[in-house]
Amino acid sequence: MYKLIDGKEVSAFIKNQVREEVEALKKQGKTVSLAVIIVGNNPASRVYVNNKKKACEATGIKSYEYALDENTSEQELLALIKELNENSEINGILCQLPLPKHIDEKKVIDAIAAEKDVDCFRAENVGKMWLGDYDFAACTPKGVMLLLEYYGIDVCGKNCVIIGRSNIVGKPMASLLIEKSATVTVCHSKTKNLSEFTRNAEVIIAAVGRPRFITADMVSDGAVVIDVGINRDENGKLCGDVDFESVKEKASYITPVPGGCGPMTIAVLMRNTLVAYHIANGK
Ligand code: NAD
Repeated sequence: MYKLIDGKEVSAFIKNQVREEVEALKKQGKTVSLAVIIVGNNPASRVYVNNKKKACEATGIKSYEYALDENTSEQELLALIKELNENSEINGILCQLPLPKHIDEKKVIDAIAAEKDVDCFRAENVGKMWLGDYDFAACTPKGVMLLLEYYGIDVCGKNCVIIGRSNIVGKPMASLLIEKSATVTVCHSKTKNLSEFTRNAEVIIAAVGRPRFITADMVSDGAVVIDVGINRDENGKLCGDVDFESVKEKASYITPVPGGCGPMTIAVLMRNTLVAYHIANGK
């Protein structure tokens, strides 16, 4: 019998911890704040930004939204980021990706001050993660680690297989698992015989971006299955990378989509913003 990993419950727990600390600071007249930049009219980006704003409201973090026109130039965007970097009232800055094609995302990421980079996208923050000496960890992988921790799943010495090698999920996920002494394999689109890896995994983390890609025959009995994917199936229904209905019969623990990793990403973003506040205030 599998156990459902409830990302809504764990994210509420994390946000509540953040809220208590933010409220205590408010009583001393101090404000924790996050600037969110969105460029253009990508509907998915709008949903993500709205969810981040809602989480700010729930935790008491002050949010500033900068909704820029699709035709905003790279220079204009970089000028805004410079202004926000210099504004001591802003603790965290995030620029919702993807950006319109005429803007170089790498330049934008690199423009955000390292100590305000609450998404943990900048090279030095990524490097710090790999060294195990960091203030912020990447939101989605850190969210996965907090889920595992909450359910008492110790990855030490376990055979963990990540499917996906992106900069925002797969790679930082590997660093956090290694930090906890897991034995980590990162599979990707060029991996041969993927099932051979997944069938040997005690923990599977799917970050592929393909609806119900991981099927029951790819999973061993008792595996912990974490589904990072957020996809639409052929009927437009939200689903993960894991075929939940069949895989759950084999898993010991499994995350649903929605309600698994998604809410955790945002909860970690709130936590990172609080950390950014403390960095700015010398703690
Ligand atoms: P991406 O497209 O950057 O990376 C996908 C990865 O999957 C690549 O590394 C690729 O090599 C691998 N891949 C593709 N086809 C494969 C195959 N046939 N076999 C093995 N590997 C294969 O995507 P991403 O940004 O890492 O996101 C992955 C998924 O996670 C998406 O569904 C995305 O929406 C979701 N996501 C969720 C959250 C969250 O908060 N829960 C955050 C970020 C991304």
